[in-house]
Amino acid sequence: MDKLKESRRAFFAKGLGLAGVGFFSTFGQGLEAAVERTPSASNPSDLKITDVKCGYVRGAVYVKVYTNQDVWGCGEAVDAIQGTYHLVKRLGEQIKGQSPLNPNRIAEQLRKAAFFGGAQSGVFIAVLTAIETALWDLTGKVFGVPVYQLLGGKFRDKIRVYCDTALYTSTNPTPADYALAARNAVSRGYNAVKFDVDDARDPNKYDRFNWTANPMEIDRMYNAIAAVRQEVGPNVDICVDMHGRYDAVTGLKMAKMYEDLNLMWLEEPVPADNIEVYKKISQETSTPICTGENVYLAYGFTRLLSENAVDIIMPDVQKAGGLGEAQRIANLANLYYVPFSPHMVASFLGAMAACHVCASVPNFQIMEWQIYMDTDQLWQDIVTYDGPRTQNSFITLSEKPGIGVEINEEGMKKYAVKGVPFFE
Ligand SMILES: [Mg+2]
Repeated sequence: MDKLKESRRAFFAKGLGLAGVGFFSTFGQGLEAAVERTPSASNPSDLKITDVKCGYVRGAVYVKVYTNQDVWGCGEAVDAIQGTYHLVKRLGEQIKGQSPLNPNRIAEQLRKAAFFGGAQSGVFIAVLTAIETALWDLTGKVFGVPVYQLLGGKFRDKIRVYCDTALYTSTNPTPADYALAARNAVSRGYNAVKFDVDDARDPNKYDRFNWTANPMEIDRMYNAIAAVRQEVGPNVDICVDMHGRYDAVTGLKMAKMYEDLNLMWLEEPVPADNIEVYKKISQETSTPICTGENVYLAYGFTRLLSENAVDIIMPDVQKAGGLGEAQRIANLANLYYVPFSPHMVASFLGAMAACHVCASVPNFQIMEWQIYMDTDQLWQDIVTYDGPRTQNSFITLSEKPGIGVEINEEGMKKYAVKGVPFFE
């Protein structure tokens, strides 16, 4: 330990060009003390990435970045199917030997490594997200600070979440089922709920491929949410998701019908490709319109925002480009006075990683949470975290170094996707 202290002092003095100077014993002691508190095994310049490995559980990839100093970082990406194993390995090869303490630089290096200098999307960016997130976790651990501190500090200590009731897993739920699911969420302490109303299995649908809702489908979608509003009263927030399936006629009709239910937002009433249609719907209804869970990088959000096409954005922090990129997206939205309300279907590792970003920007509104994360054992088993996860619709931001949540590789094994190497 003394040897380590010595080397820290030497590193610090060398950095300031002050070795051997008389007043060194008093000058800069605060900074010196801070450097000595950082729990790396040697001074940061010796820290190197040695390997990048991954494991797959359900639709998510968990990436671990290893170093030469027995400190590691973990990140997660969603919608990154098992087919990305070789992509993780290839990107990992490109960063071996580098210092992990520059997450923004490494993300930019990987994003622009090929011919095109950007304009990449989809699973490539999702995998990049997991690696970038692991680097923030690692950097926080090395300097002994939580990730939000590296992102510039926090605006809040607790991150508000809404409860997605996952009623979409049941067949043909009635308005009474919606009301019951809402009551269940509120009784668990949640002050905001979300329901999906799109339904390819609606027996009243005339056609599997045409998404113009007929009067019976319109009634079903409206009555379900009216029952929720009646159940929860005026002060619980309600979000409604149409999963980008319907056409513009139906999307606008539902947005206008829902006006009297005072939704927090209507999510993706139409497919999230055509910005002109979003602009039209947003401008013709007082129901706030939200999109963004399949939009990548800050570039992906520029026209949505600059053309006033949406009222609220919901990037998925586990696939939009990383924690640094999610912060840039939120800050971009803030210039248009648009709230940042992330989509979230990750484990508690991804949830807490996103919380650090949510804490670091002024315009954070609310983040997604799934009711099955409270009730299904898988979500408990795959990560290690002591303490409650949500309490009364809030996640308390971790103050531990890094993200503050660790993956549990032993716990993950029984859920690991078969036929894909697991942290090999
Ligand atoms: Mg959605």
